[in-house]
Amino acid sequence: MSAKLLEGKPIAEKIKQNLKQEIASLKSKFNTTPTLATVQVGENPQAAIYLKSQKKVAQELGIEFQEHPLAATLTEEALIDYIEKLNHDKNVTGILLQLPLPAQINAKDIPIHINPLKDVEGMHPENVGQAIFGKMRIGSCTALSVMELIKSTGVDLYGKEAVIVGHSEIVGKPVSLLLLDKFATVTTCHIATGQRGYLPTHVKRAEILVVAVGKPGIIQGEWVQEGAIVIDVGINRVGDKIVGDVEFEKAFERASFITPVPGGVGPLTVTMLMKNLVEAFKLQQK
Ligand code: NAP
Repeated sequence: MSAKLLEGKPIAEKIKQNLKQEIASLKSKFNTTPTLATVQVGENPQAAIYLKSQKKVAQELGIEFQEHPLAATLTEEALIDYIEKLNHDKNVTGILLQLPLPAQINAKDIPIHINPLKDVEGMHPENVGQAIFGKMRIGSCTALSVMELIKSTGVDLYGKEAVIVGHSEIVGKPVSLLLLDKFATVTTCHIATGQRGYLPTHVKRAEILVVAVGKPGIIQGEWVQEGAIVIDVGINRVGDKIVGDVEFEKAFERASFITPVPGGVGPLTVTMLMKNLVEAFKLQQK
């Protein structure tokens, strides 16, 4: 058996078509344009690539895109003050903080200071709480992308064995919650699972496998159950190539669906960010 490739781009294109229409009608109804303010502290080549693709998609969809470059020496307090200003700026619909941040700022301290209705990355505790109660308004863009990819397979998640590898706030934990919400039976693996040597045991049970670790090949292809759906979120540079966390060739032979890296989750995340912005806009009009 070999898998069907789950590519993000065609799904992103469909979502963008709908968003474009929705944004046009929101603009004419409310006579204002959804506006994304992106804040970058210092300079980073990887962040510059993301910024460029965010700008491109925003333009494509008719979203106003503001760049707020701040000095690399900025203190955490000064960043919070700056965010406060954007929270109160009536022209700003959503606030996006580009990562990585310089060492003097703890990225985990910041989301609570973003107005939850402008939190387009779904990281504010209020938005995380909404997800826990199954009432998600704005969620993690990467987790939403993972869910869109799984949805595109048409597979019913009810009672399925889902195994998530990685428990970060931005990917592993929100994906676990969203899968629970669909009544999958969820196992979340992390560093301690790996250290105890239980990773293969859990992965072998997975009918749905989502991997977000950032270590190339950490999931061996032979661990993948025949017919599993494999979503590889990992992005790793190995030499001049970008690879995921799953040994692709062997996993491809066993899975029913598998995301390529690059080309799987990545192309969807910016689109889900813009979807969150539209959601934020609608919430603010209420
Ligand atoms: P992260 O915050 O570093 O989290 C990595 C997770 O993996 C942590 O929960 C960590 O556990 C766990 N882990 C580390 N070693 C492990 C092991 N040996 N066995 C099991 N679990 C282990 O990273 P992230 O932000 O979630 O991102 C993960 C990967 O996804 C990265 O490659 C990143 O570039 C990629 N990513 C891609 C997209 C996209 O759009 N495609 C978006 C976001 C992230 P502990 O915390 O307990 O150590």
